[in-house]
Amino acid sequence: MKTLQSVTSCLSDYDPDALPVATAQAIIASLVEPLAASETVPLRAALGRILAQAVQAPLNVPGADNAAMDGYAFDGAALASADPVALRCVGTSSAGHPYPTVVPAGACVRIMTGALIPAGCDTVVVQEVVQRTDGDDAGGFATIRFDAAVVRAGANVRHAGEDLPLGAEALPAGRTVQAADLGLLASLGIAEVSVRRPVRVAFFSTGDELRSLGQPLEPGCVYDSNRYTMFGMLQRLGVEAIDLGVVRDQPEALEAALRDGCARADAVVTTGGVSVGDADYTRTLMARLGEVSFWKVAMRPGRPFAFGRLALNGKSALFFGLPGNPVAVMVSFYTFVRDALLALGGALPHTAPVLHARSTAALRKRPGRSEFLRGVARRVADGTWEVTPTGAQGSGILSSMSHANCLIVLGHQQGDVAAGATVDVMLFDGLI
Ligand code: AMP
Ligand code: MG
Repeated sequence: MKTLQSVTSCLSDYDPDALPVATAQAIIASLVEPLAASETVPLRAALGRILAQAVQAPLNVPGADNAAMDGYAFDGAALASADPVALRCVGTSSAGHPYPTVVPAGACVRIMTGALIPAGCDTVVVQEVVQRTDGDDAGGFATIRFDAAVVRAGANVRHAGEDLPLGAEALPAGRTVQAADLGLLASLGIAEVSVRRPVRVAFFSTGDELRSLGQPLEPGCVYDSNRYTMFGMLQRLGVEAIDLGVVRDQPEALEAALRDGCARADAVVTTGGVSVGDADYTRTLMARLGEVSFWKVAMRPGRPFAFGRLALNGKSALFFGLPGNPVAVMVSFYTFVRDALLALGGALPHTAPVLHARSTAALRKRPGRSEFLRGVARRVADGTWEVTPTGAQGSGILSSMSHANCLIVLGHQQGDVAAGATVDVMLFDGLI
């Protein structure tokens, strides 16, 4: 297991008091090792879970050549021998009811979409382009006639294995199972899948001023909102969230909560108590409980951040100490914690998509730090995107997150943005 010390000592530009977002992300990523444990679950229960192993196709899909259209199946060689083509219709192949014998030269069978292509045939002509005469044949069979130019030999046939050939990788390990994947696995006859066990994340809020819902709000106190946002973010990520409540700003209480979290979870996420003044006593405490670095990340909101690993009684857990301000909590979570928890769970990286949008307003921005503004993005008449920052951008203004539908991401080097200039936008849909 790598240590934080060993990772950061390799970085020539590691300055914990001015850490670029990308460097902090890279340090975190290099310390995360996926959990190994897996379990087998019935197919439906795999939705949203992470595949522990790649899935190989145990059969061809489709299993055999079949018709892509309703029409008539015949041997494409007939197209070269006469024009118009005339074929005797000797039977029917419908889905689930294949034509049982070989179709002789000069003959065809009526065929429905999905029905097996009978032996002796390799082409389907669609029913709309043929003329059919019933019972004009000596044996009472129907005859179809069509111009040779209306169909190519081999047309309108889905070939065995063209969706998934036997033995091919149908889904990779680390894939988060989507609705389409459930269907794909079902098409392969797979009823159970091996998935990683869910990541367990313990979380708590710190602060003497925090009150839980239902408690009276004395002067100077605030309701603990972070624990609810955190619950929502963790739940949406598909991890098992363990709520450890509100912890007072006392070393003993904090130590007890960290010990509890480390014993019960793979990661511990806290909010509050990492700002300059608070960090001093948590720093001393963390030095005893594991290896944790206190950073000032070059970002706004969300500057103070603590990251490392707790190690207690032979068990370890990743530690993420987020700032207390409610918007900073969310921005720090999506910037640092989300990807780390996905990786811990064994998921392949899936970075949230970024759009380019024209900013309707001029934006003040200092180069040398990343800034995350709350915005409302919309698609305008010409199909391009436009974004407007929601009013006040203070890191305590949580309503800005609810009113926004995206974050405007201004990178480390970026300076002021003129009205009408293009900016990067991360939509909450798909992220949150
Ligand atoms: P801190 O990082 O602990 O100094 O907190 C910074 C600001 O965020 C203070 O105004 C706190 O009252 C506020 N805050 C901290 N934790 C929470 C929380 N769980 N819910 C709501 N506000 C909080
Ligand atoms: Mg505090």
